[in-house]
Amino acid sequence: MTSTLIRGGLVVTAAEETHADVLVDHGRVVALFARDTGTDLTPGADRVIDATGKYVIPGGVDAHTHMEMPFGGTYASDTFETGTRAAAWGGTTTIVDFAIQGVGKSLREGLDAWHAKADGRCAVDYGFHMILADVNDRTLKEMDTLVEEGVTSFKLFMAYPGVFYSDDGKILRAMQRAAVNGGLIMMHAENGIAIDVLVEQALAAGKTDPRYHGEVRKALLEAEATHRAIQLSRVAGSPLYVVHVSATEAVEELARARDLGLNVFGETCPQYLFLSTDNLAEPDFEGAKYVCSTPLRPVEHQAALWRGLRTNDLSVVSTDHCPFCFTGQKDLGRGDFSRIPNGLPGVENRMDLLHQAVVDGHITRRRWIELACATPARMFGLHPRKGTIAPGADADIVVYDPRAEQVISAETHHMNVDYSAYEGRRITGRVETVLSRGELVIEGREFVGRAGHGQYQPRGTCQYLL
Ligand SMILES: [Zn+2]
Repeated sequence: MTSTLIRGGLVVTAAEETHADVLVDHGRVVALFARDTGTDLTPGADRVIDATGKYVIPGGVDAHTHMEMPFGGTYASDTFETGTRAAAWGGTTTIVDFAIQGVGKSLREGLDAWHAKADGRCAVDYGFHMILADVNDRTLKEMDTLVEEGVTSFKLFMAYPGVFYSDDGKILRAMQRAAVNGGLIMMHAENGIAIDVLVEQALAAGKTDPRYHGEVRKALLEAEATHRAIQLSRVAGSPLYVVHVSATEAVEELARARDLGLNVFGETCPQYLFLSTDNLAEPDFEGAKYVCSTPLRPVEHQAALWRGLRTNDLSVVSTDHCPFCFTGQKDLGRGDFSRIPNGLPGVENRMDLLHQAVVDGHITRRRWIELACATPARMFGLHPRKGTIAPGADADIVVYDPRAEQVISAETHHMNVDYSAYEGRRITGRVETVLSRGELVIEGREFVGRAGHGQYQPRGTCQYLL
């Protein structure tokens, strides 16, 4: 084991900004030394990283990814190997991916399948949530076992009838179980039954272009489902985490619930903060690049999301990384928007886009780290191992150059997908060096990590509950 000293940087966590040197040994943070005390630890360290003029931040925690996810007859194009390597390039050192229960199958079978995909292939650490596609007596019992094993969060869908959809009765039963076993229910909140009617009507009227994906998946149907999920969780007495919130009206539902003091939490994603229905309307089927659910909204919604991030009505920014190539995958929906695989690439871009939000004055530096590292780690039971730089924490550390300029492009990104949703966007700030449990993964803009370094992380329960 190599000891490492990261010298001269500004250490930024959700709680503090300190000019300090960080000493790492045996894969963990040993101590922070204030710069102005004159203590020089350089001679004792095996390796010294000069972070003068840079930020020293915790590695990002992306709590919402879908590597190799099956959807509409194809698979998300990043494997655990390519996806976690791209995550590292973007300063993210932990992902929590979604294992999927097959209809008629056990949770165990789904979880085993996802372990098999990820085991020995990841460049950075990973954990799993479980998607409940088939709620029944057996599944409900299995939830208890999974919580004990460290899979402590369960995603349900009010959308996608016939695929992942659960009706209100099933949702209530899963919530009641979570209220007892300590699990956190994550909700895809859109009224899928109503949306499917609008999809059918749009297609019948010859409205087949990608932009209609955004038109039929109405903001009101996101707000309605969010409201319903909140009320069901109140009846069940369970906490609720609403994923990928995109509409002003849905943020209002969350704000109302949180003002009542409920254990209700909201997540949004960079695509809703930086992109809009203008992208979905791009000509020549280019809009398909931006098809995801919940959908991108008219640009006015962005202000409500930024406000929600400042007031903590939205408390996490994850990516919902679920890439499909434009050629050969998004293509499946030419002439029928409902067949376009849903999802956007983004695991590599999140930390940079949120730093740009710091530069643009939407959020503070510490809030950047809180939204992208500390809160997701606490929300999903990974703190204090992950999400902060403190004695005892895993040495998942990023040296970030806040002044470097870069242009996001598919030409230079590392995700296994043939386009970028942020093509040509200028960003101030860039990842320079990344450590995962004390080992170098990115060193001076070179990948020096390896598939299999990343370890599975069993998780504790949500740390925001009393
Ligand atoms: Zn998702």
